[in-house]
Amino acid sequence: MTHIITSLCVRDRGCIDVCPVECMIPGQPVSEWPWIYIDPDTCIDCGACVPECPYAAIFPEDEVPAAYTAKGGEYISKVGLDGHFEGTNHHGNPIVLDTAKQLAAGEVVDLTEDIKPNYDFFESGPGYSANDVDDGM
Ligand code: SF4
Ligand code: SF4
Repeated sequence: MTHIITSLCVRDRGCIDVCPVECMIPGQPVSEWPWIYIDPDTCIDCGACVPECPYAAIFPEDEVPAAYTAKGGEYISKVGLDGHFEGTNHHGNPIVLDTAKQLAAGEVVDLTEDIKPNYDFFESGPGYSANDVDDGM
């Protein structure tokens, strides 16, 4: 199995440094790969990244919610959305996302749709080569 980062990820980067096997890769270009991605072949399911995420975006693959109910105010970010998110990440660098949407309280979102892009990132997307063009966002 693997852990999965879902579209609740806004690139805070709080998770990356705690991973003991360095399998969490910031997507690039951000407009096509807006999250951090976990290499499913390398993740050892230790769970260390989960409590580090201020946005509760990380789940064991078999616990990704098919019906996530929004508290209200949180953002999802995924290709195809056109809302704007701005913030500051764990390292003090600015975050700007133009693939975002703010959720209303009670809105229900299927986060299992986010599982496939995590695999695609390593199978047909940039994978580890995204580290070569990492801009810190
Ligand atoms: S800590 Fe959470 S929001 Fe930040 S990069 Fe990791 S998964 Fe995304
Ligand atoms: S569960 Fe452990 S090995 Fe997998 S991505 Fe998180 S910190 Fe890394």
